[in-house]
Amino acid sequence: MTEALLQVKDLSKHFSVTRGFPKRRTITVRAVDGISFDIRPGEAFGLVGESGCGKSTAARALLRLIEPDSGRVLYRGQDVTAASGGDLRVLRRKMQIVFQDPYSSLNPRQTIGSALIEPLTLHGIARGAAARDRAAALLEEVGLPPSALDKFPHEFSGGQRQRIGIARALTVEPELIVADEPVSALDVSVQAQVLLLLRDLQRRRGLSFLFVSHDLSVVRWFCDRVAVMYLGRIVEQGPVDRVLSAPMHPYARMLRDASPVPDPALRGALPRIVGELPSAAAPPSGCHFHPRCPSAMPRCSVESPGWTGVPDGGVACHLYAPDHATTA
Ligand code: SF4
Repeated sequence: MTEALLQVKDLSKHFSVTRGFPKRRTITVRAVDGISFDIRPGEAFGLVGESGCGKSTAARALLRLIEPDSGRVLYRGQDVTAASGGDLRVLRRKMQIVFQDPYSSLNPRQTIGSALIEPLTLHGIARGAAARDRAAALLEEVGLPPSALDKFPHEFSGGQRQRIGIARALTVEPELIVADEPVSALDVSVQAQVLLLLRDLQRRRGLSFLFVSHDLSVVRWFCDRVAVMYLGRIVEQGPVDRVLSAPMHPYARMLRDASPVPDPALRGALPRIVGELPSAAAPPSGCHFHPRCPSAMPRCSVESPGWTGVPDGGVACHLYAPDHATTA
């Protein structure tokens, strides 16, 4: 088996929030609650789930843009969670993020040239005219003219700004791109162009991706493997074709059935997603999904399901537990 580029082991990120009036109490929100997965070299790995399931927090925690509370992240075997100083800088260079809204990550007063040259200089990759040439080449690589160097973010469309965000991520020659809902703020026609660009860069540069999205059709097109998250936990993981075509976990099935169907004949024949995502501050007992689950059994409200391995993945559901098979 290919050695993993990135290994995420039992990663957790909890937040404390104060609620209530007049009596205030502090509640722990388990935004990311012990997730594990790995990403292979050159692979696109998807992290999917409803808004609020913890997937973006997970992406930021593994990059240490926010500090995780526990767990480990290994990059080519090196512990990202324990790294500091120069080691952390080198690791961060290898792992770059592309945000959903590139406008918020670009300084409106800074020219695109300056935004691209800055990391080149900071990391000692190129200086002066060489840095400017390199920035122009990066813009061309993402489909923008070198004249864009002297312009400001507001002079570009959303799709162009996302191309700039991608170019900036590429300045430090990363091996892994964490793409956090990279096309969800764009028009559908522009989404396809940006996805094609990402796919092209993946093939040309041998990049790996952690692709965070709520859009299953985009994940199905772009990713090789996928993990489905629900209330901070991974509930199913495996090859994208298997998980999205024949999901095992009832939540993954519901998510698949609620996503837009390309065939109009099938639309309306499928069940819609049931109920609201509960708050991570007060998750249901046992299996967090049990209040919404059509297959829930008495044990589901009291017992948290363990992980049952299946070829190249696994599922967290009592339906697939070995003891369920013997007692059913
Ligand atoms: Fe549904 Fe129970 Fe499986 Fe949870 S463990 S998904 S409630 S069947």
